[in-house]
Amino acid sequence: MAIEQFTLVLQSVKALTPNTKHFSFIREDGKGLQYLPGQFITFSFDSADAKPKRRSYSIASIPGQTDALDMAIAYVEGGVASEFLFKMEPGQKLPAMGPAGRLILQEEPISRCVLVATGTGVAPYRCMLPQLAEKLKDPNYSVDLLLGVRFKEDCLYAQDFIEFAKQHANFRFHAYYSREESQLESFEHKGYVQHAFHGLNLKPGADVIYLCGNPNMIDEAFQHLVAAGFATKDIRREKYISSN
Ligand SMILES: Cc1cc2nc3c(=O)[nH]c(=O)nc-3n(C[C@H](O)[C@H](O)[C@H](O)COP(=O)(O)OP(=O)(O)OC[C@H]3O[C@@H](n4cnc5c(N)ncnc54)[C@H](O)[C@@H]3O)c2cc1C
Repeated sequence: MAIEQFTLVLQSVKALTPNTKHFSFIREDGKGLQYLPGQFITFSFDSADAKPKRRSYSIASIPGQTDALDMAIAYVEGGVASEFLFKMEPGQKLPAMGPAGRLILQEEPISRCVLVATGTGVAPYRCMLPQLAEKLKDPNYSVDLLLGVRFKEDCLYAQDFIEFAKQHANFRFHAYYSREESQLESFEHKGYVQHAFHGLNLKPGADVIYLCGNPNMIDEAFQHLVAAGFATKDIRREKYISSN
């Protein structure tokens, strides 16, 4: 799929959590964008040193529900992109390019897909829901989605995953809270998501793991999974870092 350059127009913004917003964009030229669930878009921002800054955001849209390019964006204080995006008003435009990225589902003979995220790293998995629904028609296939955040209130898109789990018996959603102290429901747990693998009865060779979001989580989880016998080809990673 070729990378295209285009202008995106902001359609709407709504709060997802105290520091994260759901942005909906459409292309100014009215064209759609062919992408694979799990891929991302890159924006270009003017900066003080005259060199444009590039910042990437995973596509969070649920294909079939919207033609817009939705993104879940966390505010980083003083950040080049954050300061611009969080002041944007509907109708404003931004130069963008995409799609890109290899954190995508593959046709492969596996029995389980374990999708692990911190924070907005869950966005690509939301985009994968219709594709997962197709795969989950196979009763021998299952999916565990693990989302790590600090508090309950940070658990973005939780309702989408809870509803999806109700509709698909072989899909399980697990939320991990590093700082929550209140009573928890059955899908909720205390602790860091990268320490949750022991409870999953992982099977190297049969399971494939996706890791997305905070680079420290990904490095720690990757080391653990390799030590547990996973081949590196079965651990797919996307670190959320700024490119320049
Ligand atoms: C492939 C890819 C996909 C991505 N998808 C998303 C996405 O869907 N949603 C999303 O919100 N982000 C996503 N990111 C991260 C995003 O591209 C930016 O890195 C992020 O928004 C911060 O950019 P900024 O310009 O606001 O801050 P910067 O100007 O890059 O950073 C300002 C300061 O904050 C620090 N900083 C940067 N990021 C963080 C952070 N997360 N927490 C605390 N401090 C930080 C920096 O070290 C720096 O000191 C993705 C990154 C990649 C590579």
